[in-house]
Amino acid sequence: MKDNLLNNITPLPFVMSCGSTPFVIAGPCSAESLEQTLETARALKSIGITVFRAGLWKPRTLPGTFEGVGAKGLEWLRLVKHETGMTVATEVATREHVEAAIDAGIDVLWIGARTCTDPFAVQEIADALNGHNEIAVLVKNPVTPDLDLWIGALQRIANAGVTMIGAILRGFSHYGNNYYRNVPEWQVAIELNRRYPHLPIFCDPSHMGGKRNLIAPLSQQAIDMGFDGLFIESHCSPDEALSDKDQQISPQELKNIVNSLIIREKNLSTETLEVLRQHIDACDNELLNILSKRIEVCRMIGTYKKENGMQVVQTNRYDTILQKCLNQADDLGLSREFLKTIMSAIHQESVRQQIEIMNDNAV
Ligand code: PEP
Ligand code: MN
Repeated sequence: MKDNLLNNITPLPFVMSCGSTPFVIAGPCSAESLEQTLETARALKSIGITVFRAGLWKPRTLPGTFEGVGAKGLEWLRLVKHETGMTVATEVATREHVEAAIDAGIDVLWIGARTCTDPFAVQEIADALNGHNEIAVLVKNPVTPDLDLWIGALQRIANAGVTMIGAILRGFSHYGNNYYRNVPEWQVAIELNRRYPHLPIFCDPSHMGGKRNLIAPLSQQAIDMGFDGLFIESHCSPDEALSDKDQQISPQELKNIVNSLIIREKNLSTETLEVLRQHIDACDNELLNILSKRIEVCRMIGTYKKENGMQVVQTNRYDTILQKCLNQADDLGLSREFLKTIMSAIHQESVRQQIEIMNDNAV
């Protein structure tokens, strides 16, 4: 097996954050015409945006909707780069897209959520990128919250010799209506960051929220969680956009949002914080000890059940425990949802341990 080259990436040269404002990549969902592309790019440039995004090949969910202008838009992006000096980015989904984008001098490619879900497609893109370490590649999360699938896609790109790599959290698909177009599941990106601390991770609040009014709150959350920047759809006439109209904002609206975001101190530590963190560490220790004690008792019950031919899962008993906990939620200042999640995880582990005992011939 090859070394994991994802551990040896280089910083993205175009990421610039100037202290009081976050780094933002912005541009229309789709390049629709030369005029719309240039007008949007000029307006974004004037508000301080340095990296311009625009989709040319649009993998839409349903056929029959606008599917992008294709390769002819590469010339428009080249003109944006030439006229404004901005770094330009577009989405690729096939070998042909990669080759055409490289020929046109595109600086940054991104792999969309649907494409990232398919290792065959990602490998085809990686093969087309082989040895092109002058180009940066950003990989969006796959549509399902499968961290290994996301990491696998990032590794395929790294293994092709690309060294400028980043990830974009754009949220995950779900069935039925949801407040978000794609549920954020922040914890997936947090775990990616824990495993690859040097990998830059951006947040795409446009595809996450699916609505203009969710861009500001989602962006603030992303910044508070330490994301390296934002990836936002902006169109010179958002109401007339041919794709993703409900989530696109004008460059002026983008400017207002960016100016309203609060950047907080990253690594600030004070004496008070240190003392509080010691309390947290002590609480964590207590929690772990109590969990270990609970599992011990649970294994004793498992042995008893085995000796007496009783079945492991007794739903009534679990339901009683759960109800008792939930009744205490308000007094404890804990949400019912949280208690449900914790108790269900504890119960699941208890059942697993007792089943282990049932199947262990030595016991
Ligand atoms: C996009 O960024 O325009 C796009 C198609 O996004 P996603 O892959 O997140 O749906
Ligand atoms: Mn879009």
